[in-house]
Amino acid sequence: MIQATELHTHSHETPPNGATFDKLKCKECGAEYETKAIHVCELCFGPLEVKYNYDEIRRQVTRETIQAGPNSIWRYRPFLPVMTDNPIDVGTGMTPLVKSNRLARRLGMKNLYIKNDAVNMPTLSFKDRVVSVALTRAKELGFTTVSCASTGNLANSTAAIAAYAGLDCCVFIPSDLEAGKVLGTLIYNPTLMSVKGNYDQVNRLCSEVANTHGWGFVNINLRPYYSEGSKTLAYEVAEQLGWQLPDRIVAPLASGSLFTKIYKGFQEFIQVGLVDEKAVRFTGAQADGCSPIASAFREGRDFIKPVKPNTVAKSIAIGNPADGIYALEVAQKTNGNIESVTDAEIIEGMKLLAETEGIFTETAGGTTIAVLKKSLEAGKIDPDETTVVYITGNGLKTQEAVQGYIGEPLTIDPKLESFERALERSRTLDRLEWQQVLV
Ligand SMILES: *Cc1c(COP(=O)(O)O)cnc(C)c1O
Ligand SMILES: [Zn+2]
Repeated sequence: MIQATELHTHSHETPPNGATFDKLKCKECGAEYETKAIHVCELCFGPLEVKYNYDEIRRQVTRETIQAGPNSIWRYRPFLPVMTDNPIDVGTGMTPLVKSNRLARRLGMKNLYIKNDAVNMPTLSFKDRVVSVALTRAKELGFTTVSCASTGNLANSTAAIAAYAGLDCCVFIPSDLEAGKVLGTLIYNPTLMSVKGNYDQVNRLCSEVANTHGWGFVNINLRPYYSEGSKTLAYEVAEQLGWQLPDRIVAPLASGSLFTKIYKGFQEFIQVGLVDEKAVRFTGAQADGCSPIASAFREGRDFIKPVKPNTVAKSIAIGNPADGIYALEVAQKTNGNIESVTDAEIIEGMKLLAETEGIFTETAGGTTIAVLKKSLEAGKIDPDETTVVYITGNGLKTQEAVQGYIGEPLTIDPKLESFERALERSRTLDRLEWQQVLV
């Protein structure tokens, strides 16, 4: 179990030969720092980001070396902020990029692709990418206890991958999460703190705990490393499209980190010559009930007004998004857009993806599909563009959201005649109005 206090053991490393990063750099003022477990600039309070040596990466990496690598995010290791040759590899990444047929036709699109992280390993969301990177780095820095402030999926990933890596784990979630997210954390037997408050309150509490307990918080003091894991969503799409970039991507926004890192991933592949230069447009998706970034975009602001979340899309319900302004910038400079949709549209989005493509996504994915549809209808997305839509989580974890909005089974006797009668009725009745069939 977890020790009450631990030494703050981020020992000073000597980067090995061929290390591809050696500093953290402030995104605002450019001040540089040692690659320790820190995330905020001491001078201006800006966020810190990993600074790479792209000449070294270019020397190490070709399309062939990547293809010869593991079938996981670690095929892109030189682009990731770890020194070790033995990262924690639980098979995270290399999820399917599916060419959409029926959804594309329904939406009037020609070249729609679905990046399906609903089947990411080991916990069925894109968070396994960021946690695989963060925990590998946490081990390198000498942490023995890892932690996070989570909207649900991050707690699942942190608990699972900590279990695999033999790290102690204490995770924090808001107390109103879906049952699947809670159970999907507890099964790995971490210490789970269910906090009576929203995510932003959980996050504030965790910042205080990080200061006093010397734990590795994947999305707080390890955030510069953690966030880099999302770049693999860009690398994989480029590789799976045959070393090309799409015209547009559509992705959900919570803190905004994922969105900005997909952008960074594409830029890096261009910079080291793995793909040709191309201007990819970025469309961001939020729920109306928590849309601080979408409303800043809509109102043409360059700052975020924090909100109090109230939406069925709990995994993306962050009212005070840490990377909100950077996500806003990405949408603006790529000629993209950020939209929000109602909870009803989110549920319709989940159903639409399931019915047309056989993919059961969670509420975040429903939000993304609904924003794709809305942007097409508003003429903000050209239906002929090659578009990649990022599905970031699995619907089995948010079953409450669709309860009551889908059909019910037809209960019958184990007799042919009972089946025939039920089938007849199901053909005449609207399935959505089907409450209970007594045969
Ligand atoms: C956390 C999460 C996001 C958004 O992540 P950010 O990097 O914080 O914007 C999107 N989808 C799902 C399913 C998530 O769990
Ligand atoms: Zn600074």
